[in-house]
Amino acid sequence: MKRPINCLLALTLILTFCPRNAAPLASSSVHAAVVTAIRGATLIDGTGGPPLLNATIVIRGETIETAGSAASVTIPVGARVIDGSGLVVAPGFIDTHNHSDRGFSEDPAATSQVSQGITTLAVGQDGGSDFPVGAFLGGLDRDPIAVNVVTFVGHATVRARAMHGETKRQATSGEIRAMEQMVEQAMREGAFGLSSGLEYEAGKPATTEELIALATVAGRFGGIYISHIRDEADQTFAALAEAIRIGKEGRLPAQISHIKLGSVAVWGRARAAVALINRARRRGQDVTADCYPYEAWNSTIRVLIPSGRHDDPVAVARGLADVGGAQNILIVSCRAHPDYEFKTLAQVAQEQKMAPVELYMRIVQEGGASIVCHSMKEADIRVFYQQPWVMVSSDGGIGSRHPRGAGTFPLVLGRFVRERHWLSLAEAVRKMTSLPAWRLGLENRGLIRPGFKADLVLFDPAKVIDRATFQQPQLVSEGINRVFVNGVEVWQDAKVTGLRPGQALRHGQGAKGKELRAKS
Ligand SMILES: [Zn+2]
Repeated sequence: MKRPINCLLALTLILTFCPRNAAPLASSSVHAAVVTAIRGATLIDGTGGPPLLNATIVIRGETIETAGSAASVTIPVGARVIDGSGLVVAPGFIDTHNHSDRGFSEDPAATSQVSQGITTLAVGQDGGSDFPVGAFLGGLDRDPIAVNVVTFVGHATVRARAMHGETKRQATSGEIRAMEQMVEQAMREGAFGLSSGLEYEAGKPATTEELIALATVAGRFGGIYISHIRDEADQTFAALAEAIRIGKEGRLPAQISHIKLGSVAVWGRARAAVALINRARRRGQDVTADCYPYEAWNSTIRVLIPSGRHDDPVAVARGLADVGGAQNILIVSCRAHPDYEFKTLAQVAQEQKMAPVELYMRIVQEGGASIVCHSMKEADIRVFYQQPWVMVSSDGGIGSRHPRGAGTFPLVLGRFVRERHWLSLAEAVRKMTSLPAWRLGLENRGLIRPGFKADLVLFDPAKVIDRATFQQPQLVSEGINRVFVNGVEVWQDAKVTGLRPGQALRHGQGAKGKELRAKS
């Protein structure tokens, strides 16, 4: 959910499975001549259309050369042939809200990501990104990871730079102009749009007008506005309306990040939230959302008290009640008290013989904690997942301490599709592939089509399932058999291959743009 969490945690995790010898591929020419054929699989092409049984796909270098029924596709002589019988072959999954940024150096093979079928992930979320974006992408060009990376430019990032760290106030017009220039620079360097995190301290004091000004710049370059909105609890509806207004007045598409209804007062109101967004869509506005498939969120403990009055017992009591009580709050990391980790606030309060309110205030005073908070309802998640404009996102990433970091996509395929029949397999795959590709503006990914990049997932639809839990968030999923990124296998037989064929993607620069850049 929040970048600083990942900063805190990334260093301490992953060490057990990090393949330090993961090797980047020197250039695409290395594998340009390699031809691979996948035969016998059920092809789900990402459009949401009906599956094609017994299909053959031919991959040449990093590109899909042909795909179709076994009878219509000839496998070239000398091709490496993979038997896909019993499996589904789908486009690689595209995660529009991911926090792997800080984990790249710890696990460049991106184990928790590729093991769930992710082949492209979008970072720079919730208002926090690397800056300059060009330097970040250049770093990935030189030292790639296993998957493709897209980045947004963070509102809080440019805000902190323009305001020299003094973000607890409204910005002056001069400061907003400086932010606009930074957003423009980021868009020119390849950012896919502007992200914001208006529930967090550096973003919260910003006015809607400030955000409209910056969104307008991102929109001029064809980017989108993607937002962790100002409130995900009692004030969710006002926050949704603000995001819609920013999209409208900024004249660009708006995406609600990890849409949720996270407090007692709004539980069960997903249909009303959907209606609000549908009204904007009917007016012709392009508004979409992504959603992770869990009833619990992960963030800093401080977000429980939106007023920021962390030492006011009345405000704290209200904040704890809003999420259903201290038993719904699991402490997952606490520097001052590691012994609190993986216990609920209620459990620790009982052990310490303190009231939960008192314990909360002490934890915040002593440096805070990262929590997993069970404050959403499955019925709301189901309503969101059944909207055609809602895509699957993880809000996780390498090193996540929430099971969504390793389990999101298999959970949707195994539990929502296979067990509960909330949506068809083809529709779920569409929400993981062509829908996010279209949302981001990726021209040649998200579908199985000749000429598209060979980002592919082979999975067993009868077995695919998440295993990550709140106690063991790093457990990798089952039933994802093989994953290809740009034609190169990164996951095979429940292990990473260690290859790093991922590309740093620039907005508006598909294959053609790349050629132009090379010439200039
Ligand atoms: Zn977030």
